[in-house]
Amino acid sequence: MVFDAMTINNSQFVHLHTHSEYSSFDGLSKIHELVMAARQMGFPALALTDHGNIGGWIKFIQECRAKKDKNGKEIEYPTITPILGCEFYLSRNHTWKNKEKQPDGRKGNRHINLYAKNWEGYKNLCSLSEKSWVDGYYYRDPRIDIDLLGKHSQGLMCGSACLASAINANLLYDRYDQSKKLCSIFKDMFGDGFFLEIMYHGIADEARIIPDIFKLSSEMNIPIAATQDSHYIKKSQAKTQEVLMCMSTSTCLSNPKHLHFPYDEFYVKNADEMYKIFGKTPQVLYNTLALAEQINTPDIENNLFGGMRLPEFALPEEFTNPYDYLKKLSIDGMKKLGWNKSERHVERLKVELADLKIAYDNNNYDFSTYLLIVRDYIEFARNKGIIIGAGRGSGYGSVLLRCIGVCYGPDPLEYSLLWERFLGFDDKKFILEKDFGYA
Ligand SMILES: [Zn+2]
Ligand SMILES: [Zn+2]
Repeated sequence: MVFDAMTINNSQFVHLHTHSEYSSFDGLSKIHELVMAARQMGFPALALTDHGNIGGWIKFIQECRAKKDKNGKEIEYPTITPILGCEFYLSRNHTWKNKEKQPDGRKGNRHINLYAKNWEGYKNLCSLSEKSWVDGYYYRDPRIDIDLLGKHSQGLMCGSACLASAINANLLYDRYDQSKKLCSIFKDMFGDGFFLEIMYHGIADEARIIPDIFKLSSEMNIPIAATQDSHYIKKSQAKTQEVLMCMSTSTCLSNPKHLHFPYDEFYVKNADEMYKIFGKTPQVLYNTLALAEQINTPDIENNLFGGMRLPEFALPEEFTNPYDYLKKLSIDGMKKLGWNKSERHVERLKVELADLKIAYDNNNYDFSTYLLIVRDYIEFARNKGIIIGAGRGSGYGSVLLRCIGVCYGPDPLEYSLLWERFLGFDDKKFILEKDFGYA
C-alpha cells in the first residue's frame, strides 16, 4: 500500500462513524439516500453507527446490497459492504438511576462505537442494545457500562468515538493517564479490533487532543482511524439538521441558545476531503480500510437471511427436538378429535409432518418451532379470554394445525381444503404461504 501519495480515492477509505435518521432528532440522513450517496461515491464499505439504537440495520443492509430500485430498475452504482455498528452510551454503572449516583448526570453518558465483526458480535450487540434499553435507560439515553461490555465483547470491533467519549473527555480535562487506563481496558477486550478515532470538524478541542491520541497510539500500539461524525449527507443540509436538533430540544432557530453543531462540517466527506485534513498522516486514512476488512459480513448475512430466525422455544424435558414434540402434540390432538380412526386423516397428518421434516432437512426451515410458537400464543390468547378466529386463509387447510389447536372449527378434509396451499415445494425449495391472521 502506498502511504506517500498526494491524494487518496474513495475506494481506499471507509467511513466508520455515520449517523442516519435512526439517530433520533439528530441524524438527518435517510438510510436509502445515505447508502446511495456512498455507493455513488465509490466507497467499498460503510458503517452505520446510530446513537443508542440498532433499528436501522436491516434496512441498511438491504440498501447496501440492493441491485434494483423499488421500481425494479437496475441500480447503476456498485453494491457496498454494510458494517453494522452503534454509538452506544457508556455510563459508570448502567443501572444507576439517580443523579447522586451518576455524578455528572446526563453528561456522564459517554459515547463509544461498537461494530459487529461476525455473527457472534451481531448477537452481542443485540444483547447490549436490549440491556441498554431495558435496564440502562436513564437521562434520556439507553446506557451500557464497562462490566456489561466485558461480558459481551466477543466478535466486536470498537472505536473510541467523538469528543464525548470517555477516552477523549479525559484527554480534554488533561487526564492522560485515565485515558491510557481506559485504552488498556478496551485493548484487552477487543485486541486488534480496538482503534482510536481522530476527527476534525473545525472544533478547537478536537485539534487540541490529536497529539495526545497519537501519543496513546504509539505508547500502546493501537491503530488510529480518521472518522467523520456525519449527521447529514451534504454540507448544504447543515441548517436542516439544526432544525431537527431544535425539535429534539423543543426550541427554535431564533433561540440564541439552541443546541447546534458549531460548523457545517458534519456531512459525508469524500476521501479527498478527508485527505485534506489528515493527509500529513495518511496511515490514519488507510487504516479505515484495514479495519473494515476485519468485518466478516457474509457470516452475519448468512445467519440473518439464510434461514428462519426464531426465538428459542423451551421444550418439555423429555423432548430433545421441536419436531418430536410437535408430532406428539398433533397425535394427541388427533385422538381427542377422534380423527385417529379415520385413515384419511391419519395419512394426511403423516404427509404434513413429513413436509415439515423435508423443509427442515433441505432448507433449514425450522417450521416445527415456528408452529409451536404460534400454538403458544394462540393458547395464551384463549386462556386470557382474548377473542381469536377459527383460523384463516391457507392455514385452515392443515389437519396438523387443527390437531394442535391453532385452528378450530370444521374439519378441513370435509371441505377438501389443501395443505399444499399453506406449505409447498417448488423445485425442491420449500415455499411457505404464511397466513396466520387472527381477528
Ligand atoms: Zn458521539
Ligand atoms: Zn457520532
